[in-house]
Amino acid sequence: MNRKTYRGTPISPGIAIGPAFVSDSAAIKIPVYYIDKSQVESELTRFHAAVSVAKSQIETMITEMESKLGAKDAMIFKVHSHILEDSHFIDLVEEKVREEKINVEAALREVITWYSAQIAEVQNSGAKDTSADIRDVGNRVIRNLMADEKDHVLKREEHFILITHELLPSDTVHLDKSKLLGIVTEVGGKASHAAILSRSFGIPAVTGVDLTTFPRTVGEMVLDGRMGAIVLYPNSADMKRYEERRREFLEFKDTIYVKEEGEAVTLDGTEVELLANIENFDALNDEDFKDIKGIGLYRTEFMFMDRNTFPSEEEQYEIYRSILNKIGPDKEVTFRTIDIGGDKKLSYFRTPEEANPVLGWRGIRISFEWPDVFISQIRALLKAAAHGQVNIMLPMVTDLEEVRTANQYLTDIKNDLRKQGTPFGESVRLGVMIEVPAAAIDIDNIVHETDFISIGSNDLIQYMLAVDRNNAKVAEMYQPLNPAILKIIHRVIRAGVESGTRVSICGEMAGNFNYTQLLLGMGLRRLSMTPFYISGVKKAIRSTTIADCERIAGRALNMRTLREIRTYLKRMNVLNPPKGGKTF
Ligand code: PEP
Ligand code: MG
Repeated sequence: MNRKTYRGTPISPGIAIGPAFVSDSAAIKIPVYYIDKSQVESELTRFHAAVSVAKSQIETMITEMESKLGAKDAMIFKVHSHILEDSHFIDLVEEKVREEKINVEAALREVITWYSAQIAEVQNSGAKDTSADIRDVGNRVIRNLMADEKDHVLKREEHFILITHELLPSDTVHLDKSKLLGIVTEVGGKASHAAILSRSFGIPAVTGVDLTTFPRTVGEMVLDGRMGAIVLYPNSADMKRYEERRREFLEFKDTIYVKEEGEAVTLDGTEVELLANIENFDALNDEDFKDIKGIGLYRTEFMFMDRNTFPSEEEQYEIYRSILNKIGPDKEVTFRTIDIGGDKKLSYFRTPEEANPVLGWRGIRISFEWPDVFISQIRALLKAAAHGQVNIMLPMVTDLEEVRTANQYLTDIKNDLRKQGTPFGESVRLGVMIEVPAAAIDIDNIVHETDFISIGSNDLIQYMLAVDRNNAKVAEMYQPLNPAILKIIHRVIRAGVESGTRVSICGEMAGNFNYTQLLLGMGLRRLSMTPFYISGVKKAIRSTTIADCERIAGRALNMRTLREIRTYLKRMNVLNPPKGGKTF
């Protein structure tokens, strides 16, 4: 095979060398392949199993919707149920598999497209448009079928580098990280959730790679997660070079990320609280616990992803309580209420197709419009708070009115629990993420009506710079050190400090030791990050003084360009990362 190279945007450092596994291509989001005559019956059995799973998922949803919202809203799912009962629809799929000898996902997709077109024609004549329902229910069956596909990825025996169009946050929940050497995607930005998760697993990743000419089957390949390079069928010179780089990177990782003993205290005695960002509590190991004061960001939506229906209040209560029991009474947990929308979707919750999903229906906006889910989560958290220290944090808050609405919900829910005689934690704090520029600019008002604030720099940067954090095309423009970003972050921190409101940062900036002095110098004393980064940041804290940090922040805040700031911080960095280290 001929050596071939590709380029992309590096999103998670490290070198991976190993066999590639191509999961889908850009053009084909679902697998399409021919099957042998002898496989037809087993393919149809797969189809019927997926349909019957879909039917019971829909039944569950109908029951839930009827009890929460009434029969009218449950109607749409009844339509879905009827579609799956429609023997013509089922027959068409079966016929395609039998006659064209293609896999059932491909057959289903063709039938959905055909059916939708037919309906659109009828609709022109005035009939009700159910084409969206056909697509929706069809995709549900495809997803059920693809669950096997994911299992297939999951259960791979050998190590592999995953090549896929897009890695959704919900996909990362299913992947077997122990076999995954690296990730290559076509779409996704530096601060996409997939990138954050790859970094937290320590898996090298590159995005923005044009996969249209990427072969479906590849043998050995090399991925450089620092430079964004990909080499298919590497020659012996490549192998020598990349083996060397991999060794260098691992050495670097060992010096920076190996456990740092001692407290997170600066040379002049200022203590800094280090907290962890997590998506899944079980991923946190005992070593991680020692260094942290608690969880500064628990992204609860991931708990909602790995399932087929919303978890009940009782189920959530059990989960939250077990987390609090495990972490113990001295450590606090900041649970962020469900933050779906944007790139985080739930297979069982229908969100509209939006032209600009990150500016659309997401976070707290969904919670206020669908209060059932919000209320049951807050109730579960309040009840769990009887067993530990709980903070509740609201995502995507835009203005003070939303803060007041949330405070009112909390008061009402507490009153209900009191009336019902249900025990709950009275001292729960309610805080907001500052990730929408409007909230950051109006921070002087917000701080007086909230218990704490946490800077969500990942989204704040995307909205301030008008750079989609999931778009590989503009990944290079996603720059945390942009002078406007530093100014807004400084303003938020100052408002927190001056009003005596707890302030922290939980975006990716917190975990980058290159920024530690800057953040401390701007006044932060609470940093929440992926556990992987804690040692590096602690080393930076233990090697500097607050006086130096303030001097560095003061200088950086007065600089006019990103380039100046970047060069200056590189020069001042106490850890001086060696070649192969984390990119600035
Ligand atoms: C953020 O936006 O900075 C953040 C921490 O939340 P998420 O990355 O989950 O959007
Ligand atoms: Mg966010």
